[in-house]
This record gives sequence, C-alpha cells and structure tokens, in this order.
Amino acid sequence: MSRYWSELVNRLTPYVPGEQPRQEKLVKLNTNESPYPPTPAVLQAIAAVDGDDLRLYPDPESGALKEAFASRNKLQADQVFIGNGSDEVLAHCFQGLLKHDLPLYFPDVSYSFYPVWCDLYQIDYRQVPLSSDFTVDIAAYPEQNGGIIIPNPNAPTGVLLELDAIGELLHRSPDSVVVIDEAYIDFGGESAVRLIPEYDNLLVVQTLSKSRALAGLRVGAAMGCVQLIEGLQRVKNSFNSYPLDVLAQRAALASLQDEAYFLDCCRRVMASREQLCAALQELGFEVLPSSANFVFARHPQCAAQQLFAALRQRGILVRHFNKPRISEYLRISIGDEQACAVLVSALREALADASRA
Ligand code: PMP
Repeated sequence: MSRYWSELVNRLTPYVPGEQPRQEKLVKLNTNESPYPPTPAVLQAIAAVDGDDLRLYPDPESGALKEAFASRNKLQADQVFIGNGSDEVLAHCFQGLLKHDLPLYFPDVSYSFYPVWCDLYQIDYRQVPLSSDFTVDIAAYPEQNGGIIIPNPNAPTGVLLELDAIGELLHRSPDSVVVIDEAYIDFGGESAVRLIPEYDNLLVVQTLSKSRALAGLRVGAAMGCVQLIEGLQRVKNSFNSYPLDVLAQRAALASLQDEAYFLDCCRRVMASREQLCAALQELGFEVLPSSANFVFARHPQCAAQQLFAALRQRGILVRHFNKPRISEYLRISIGDEQACAVLVSALREALADASRA
C-alpha cells in the first residue's frame, strides 16, 4: 500500500511467475522452458547484428516476422500481430477484444495470469468449471458472453481440446471473440489456425518461448481476421510502438526459418514425456494425459506440497499451485533425458521416505 499509488494499483494482486533461481545447479522443471537450446541459426542472427542496427529504432511492425508467421500458417501478413512474448499479446487481447458489457469466460483451472489481466483492465469474468476429468466442457459456456479464452492444451493440466470442440464453441458464440492460447500446441495438438478462414471471431495466440526454446527472447504472436488484428494494432500503437527489439526480430525470424530443427526438438520432448509418464505411473502417480511440454500428476499416498519440498531439497524445482481442485498436483516440465532420470530417482527416494515416516 502506498498513498502514491493509484486506487487500482493498490488493489492489484500481480501474477507471480515460477522461480528463476540464481543458483546454478538446480534441475529446473518449473516454468516449461525447452530443455534444448534454440537452433544455432538464432545465435548467428544475433551475432550478425551491427552497430547501425542498434543505433536505429527497430521495425515497429516486425514486418519480416509477420510474413514468416503468415506463410507458415497460410495467412496474409495483415492477419498476424507480433508482441513482446505472448503475455503481452494476451494482455492486449484482454484490453482490446475481451472487455465488454457481458463477462469474459475461461476455465476455472487455467493460466493464472487471466484473472490478473481482468483485474488490471477491470473486466468482469466468470470461471467455468472443467469436467471432473479436467477436460473443457464446451456446453458449459453460455452463448451470450463478452468473450472466451481457453489455453489449448490447457495449462497447467496439459489436457488437449479437440479442434471440433473449438469449432463448435466458435459457431455458438458468433458475437464475441474466442481466444485460443496455444502456448503449448506444438507438443502434439492441432492448431486452431486452420479455422481462421471460417471464423472471424477466432484469435489464435502462439509463442516462441516453449517449442522454439526462446523464452529469453520474448516473442509472441496472434493470428486472426484482419479486423481483430487491427484492434490489437490499435492497442499496441497506443502503448509501445517498438515492443520487439532488433535482436528479437532477427533471431525469431531465424528460428521460424529452421523448421527441421524445431520439429526435431518437439519430437524429442514428446518422446521424453511418454517415458516420464510411464515412469511416474510406475511410482504410483496419476498423470493427466498431456499434449504439452509438462505433465500434471498427483500421488494418492503423498501430498503434493510434501513432494514439492522433498524435490526442492534435492535441488529439483517443479511447480505447485496451492489452489482449489489442483493443490494435490505437481506440474513438472519435461527436461532432457538426464533431468527426467534425476527427477524420477528423487521422487522414488521421497516416496520411500514418506512411506517410512
Ligand atoms: N500462455 C500460457 C498458457 C502460458 O503458460 C504462458 C507461459 N507462462 C504464456 C501464455 C506466456 O508465454 P510467453 O509470454 O513466454 O510467450
């Protein structure tokens, strides 16, 4: 509290991201980063930037990146919006497309930044319960709404919603914007981008942070019909003309141009995920079916909080959300083979300790 803050700032409860520890040796499985580096082409693109590139302002529209996203997704460049990480893109969506008289709807278990943006932009919202198996129940969303946002696959569950269901949702809510937050779509799901020509109320948001190993670069995008993109442009150009610096634009472009490397990284993460799921199940965990680069798991005999602490003690960071419905689960990012092995043996030890206590 401070008397210098606005009334709104006094009332905010900001989002708290997963810990980014200074300590080097931790096995970091808490923020869904890629276990692999970005394509070497990214570092080459950054190394090629010269003094003049930095002396001048960057392209305010990230034009080359828009073209790359468009051609990859069979769209036109004016159907693409680029922002400083998908968090910024999503924030602009909340302010520019999802704030209306009727409330905004999203799942009760989903990305915990959504209610924070609602508070920041003073958007009325309702959280719709997921089904008992943690799937999104399309029928529970009212046809009249001020907007809908759903992460697909959902976070922190990893559970995928099929494209048919998204089509049905779009069909039922033609008067409001449906945002599909596809931060984790490259790990086994099918993108809703394919539905854009059919639905002018669909906006698909993606990021280079996860599947392209560029969380540190901060690049996100939205794709949809020209009017939706223009709405986002209006917000951006009333906020920050240059959200992406020169390094981010060049490096992101290099990443998008190396499809083979990208596909290989996704394939490796998915293979590790299947192995990890099997190992966790062998230890007695219940693991939700994941289409993301993380798994969401609970152990019927051991509290998540206790496992979280035991892992932390052994230098392994995972994520625990002390929230209704999910406080018994751990969200574990998929690491490389070695990290997965270290995790499994630490969990085996922690479970043995717990059963002896
Ligand atoms: N959406 C979801 C569902 C996420 O989990 C995240 C990562 N925290 C983001 C969006 C934002 O990712 P970024 O800003 O790195 O693009």
